[in-house]
Amino acid sequence: MSEPIISIRNLKKVYHVGEVDVNALRGVDLDIKRGEFMCIVGHSGSGKSTLFNILGGLTPPTSGTVMINGKDLRGMTEGERTNLRKTEIGFIFQKYNLLPTLTASDNIAIARSIAGKGDTADPQFTEILKLLGISHRLNHKPRALSGGEQQRVAIARALVNHPSILLADEPTGNLDTENSNIVLGILRDLNERLGQTIVMITHNPEAATYGHSITHMRDGSIIG
Ligand code: ADP
Ligand code: MG
Repeated sequence: MSEPIISIRNLKKVYHVGEVDVNALRGVDLDIKRGEFMCIVGHSGSGKSTLFNILGGLTPPTSGTVMINGKDLRGMTEGERTNLRKTEIGFIFQKYNLLPTLTASDNIAIARSIAGKGDTADPQFTEILKLLGISHRLNHKPRALSGGEQQRVAIARALVNHPSILLADEPTGNLDTENSNIVLGILRDLNERLGQTIVMITHNPEAATYGHSITHMRDGSIIG
């Protein structure tokens, strides 16, 4: 058995809000294998986004360990964590987060140049664009694209540096059923055809059926 790509042990996160402590994660243990498409489901407030932000190195945990590709997030310097975010992890958000003044193509290109990869040819990425079905829409700015197209551009941006993990937080939260199904089908294809490891957070049980495994969260804990 190869070691998990993500390994989480006794992960806790407490937010201090005025006088009150909010226990957003209460000791989470989770292993995610390379090539897995894992869905994490739970009601609003169950701690899903907190877990997402910790996995992506965006928020520090209160205690516990997170290993990504065999490296402990805690032992990393800020620079190493930034590098992890730029090259190892691709992020997809509910609201796409595209830059409105740039074309789709430039939104994607900028992620590549931020990671220091410039504009060297990348035949594998051409294949990804084909799979996303947006090659003909790349010269448009986000406002000229539908929500589904914007999310597909955001997926392209997340994949441009060939991250080992794709993290998605409610990727279909702003989409109608038809576009949700398109985006979820794309994620499944990326996983099945290219072996992309995916962790998708959703409160929609139907969306969760697209993955291999479902992890349920409630009140900051995993309940199976
Ligand atoms: P979910 O994504 O499942 O809706 P969250 O991780 O966003 O859950 O939230 C879990 C709990 O932590 C909630 O009670 C929420 O109010 C609280 N919480 C989340 N982020 C913060 C924050 N930045 N400051 C204070 N409390 C927070
Ligand atoms: Mg959330």
